[in-house]
Amino acid sequence: MGKLIVTNTSVLLPDMTIARGQTVETENGIISAIRPYQEGEEITLSRNKETELLDGSRKLLMPGLCDSHMHTGQQLLKGQILDALPMIWTRIMLPFESTLTPEKMELSAELAALEMIKSGTTSFVDAGSYFMESAADVYLQSGLRGLLSASTMDDASLPDVIRHTADQNVAQTDALYDAYHGKGNLKVAYSLRSLISCTEELILKAAGHAKERGALLQAHMNEYPNEINFFLQRFGVRPIEYLEKLGVLDERFLAAHCILLSENEKDLLKKYNVKTCHCPFSNCGKGIPDTPALLQRGITVGLGTDGAAHGGLSLWNEMKIFRSVMNVGRGVGISEAAVMPAAKIIRMATQGGYDYLHETAEVSLLEKRRTLSRFRFASRICIRPEILSIHCSSA
Ligand SMILES: [Zn+2]
Repeated sequence: MGKLIVTNTSVLLPDMTIARGQTVETENGIISAIRPYQEGEEITLSRNKETELLDGSRKLLMPGLCDSHMHTGQQLLKGQILDALPMIWTRIMLPFESTLTPEKMELSAELAALEMIKSGTTSFVDAGSYFMESAADVYLQSGLRGLLSASTMDDASLPDVIRHTADQNVAQTDALYDAYHGKGNLKVAYSLRSLISCTEELILKAAGHAKERGALLQAHMNEYPNEINFFLQRFGVRPIEYLEKLGVLDERFLAAHCILLSENEKDLLKKYNVKTCHCPFSNCGKGIPDTPALLQRGITVGLGTDGAAHGGLSLWNEMKIFRSVMNVGRGVGISEAAVMPAAKIIRMATQGGYDYLHETAEVSLLEKRRTLSRFRFASRICIRPEILSIHCSSA
């Protein structure tokens, strides 16, 4: 990997302040120094042919963004559902995903990887689809840090081509896990795709297999009113409460969306250290999450795009939307303009995502040399006109 030096750049520090006029040195992928830039130092540095120099002037060097919830398998649906009539899940998503092939998944992963890298995202969590091996091979080459799952549902009403038994479902993830977990920058998690499309047998088996391997378990949670009503009508409890009764909740459980939460469910998320994320653009038609209350409880909240079928894979767009939604939904009513400050949102899209991915706390932020020696580049630096984005991981 050699030596890479970014000169005369601005650096986003862990406290969300910006240090201007800095030079960042790396060696074999490890950040070895962040020091003040010295005028004209490029001339001296360029004499060493082993060193790659990047001009960081007028750019910000910051941690890569983490998309905590996306769908590679819906990449080719880009923008197709925006004005579609309900139920999008049953009318569009399921029929579309029933037609996926290894070739389409390879193409989808290539497009998704490009879209993420172009917009400064260097880590992501895929909620699970089909032929994930084809996607995994692409992501391995991309250098992106990814958490992958196989789509997991056993509802009897699913189309034949994607209907599997509980045992077949967990066996698919077992195979994906054995082939790709820990390979390159990839991890594999177990998944409960849509909770109302999973039998109790499948939920328990997926949770059991995840626990045996120390793997993560992810699910779409508390996203739709009909999902809440489904559990209330059948079991007299809400979705998070239902999973608690099954003994499924713990710190390895990833709950995507988390829009429609009761106070008791928020307490349960905190009690079991469940990790959560929101997908602002996708969530707009469903509800406004009580993010301030979640953060106040110390619950991890990341940000996701929910895949390209919604608003594309740019987390910058998601952050702008989230800021507006929080202001209108949570701030205006109490005259609190800073209900969700920009620094907090950036932290959610970086550190929140790494916590969601269960990366160590040190990996995400650019800190001083004492801890920087533990970092290394996990993927290529993403260069946009104004941003140099780096995702680091523990060496
Ligand atoms: Zn989703």
